[in-house]
Amino acid sequence: MAASSDGLVIPAAFKPPVDSRREFIKRELDDEDERIEVGVAIVGGGPAGLACANRLLQLLADEPELLERLGEVPVAVIEKGKACGAHNLSGAMMRPSGLQALFPDLSPSDWPTYGQVAKDAVYWMLSPKRALPLKPTPPPFRNHGNYVVSVAELSRWLAEKAEEAGAYILTETSAHQLLVEDGVVRGIRSGDKGRGKDGEPLGNFEPGTDIKAHATVLAIDLPSGLDCDTGQPLGPACVRADKTVTFVAEKSGFANPDAREYTGEITVADIGCPIQIIEEVRAAGL
Ligand SMILES: Cc1cc2nc3c(=O)[nH]c(=O)nc-3n(C[C@H](O)[C@H](O)[C@H](O)COP(=O)(O)OP(=O)(O)OC[C@H]3O[C@@H](n4cnc5c(N)ncnc54)[C@H](O)[C@@H]3O)c2cc1C
Repeated sequence: MAASSDGLVIPAAFKPPVDSRREFIKRELDDEDERIEVGVAIVGGGPAGLACANRLLQLLADEPELLERLGEVPVAVIEKGKACGAHNLSGAMMRPSGLQALFPDLSPSDWPTYGQVAKDAVYWMLSPKRALPLKPTPPPFRNHGNYVVSVAELSRWLAEKAEEAGAYILTETSAHQLLVEDGVVRGIRSGDKGRGKDGEPLGNFEPGTDIKAHATVLAIDLPSGLDCDTGQPLGPACVRADKTVTFVAEKSGFANPDAREYTGEITVADIGCPIQIIEEVRAAGL
């Protein structure tokens, strides 16, 4: 078992046995009459994908010729859940700035929230009967002015808004492969439906479909394709970002100068991890 000198197990040494180039990239597109064509394919009907669909349709409303060129389905959201929000299970504290910018004409009372945070208090539970208030409130716990939301409800609401604006929302459809031709992403291949637990086709089997798009947006909280231990791309479909936000500390691979081409500017987001732990991890060279 791969372990560092002090016996810690290194997760990166246990990569899953997946040949991502072969398994997740499809290079030959199905014939025109067998595939679906859309303008922009947005994979993932969570807050990011749906915000993208709404904003795109707002921008396209001012560009009628471009909208026309994008075809019958200018913006499609491909979501594997039964409905948008079905796979978003958490409650969340939401900063209002995103929705304010996206829907400047709506007031917060139109948003699907459980109200605004008026006061913060964080307690350290010393025992079942004793709690010590932490003062001042540590920055990651400060939510004054933020809104309490259910991410599932927020997604459902954003999906309704996107549909009203003209998005086509394709649920129960998972993006299984990226369609890549001449090094360019052309869309996605949806996953087969109706397979048994060992992959065998069942009576209700339906093969996946190529969904070809002028532009493809992946909004599924996915890894970028950059190996964070080496700073090297894992394959040809590695995302080139202008900006990367990384939690807690820079990944070791980011020290590789070649990684900058893929990460862009790096910002470390402090999520309240004690600095002592970060320093111990750095000293262990992990
Ligand atoms: C326990 C918990 C607490 C959290 N608390 C907060 C908080 O307080 N404040 C806050 O701002 N954030 C919080 N978050 C984070 C927040 O939920 C995420 O940042 C946010 O949901 C990310 O949005 P997204 O659209 O990028 O991705 P997601 O919400 O993950 O949406 C991705 C969507 O893509 C779909 N999908 C995935 N793969 C495929 C595929 N191959 N094909 C088709 N569809 C696919 C999924 O079904 C999902 O609907 C919390 C998260 C968790 C888990």
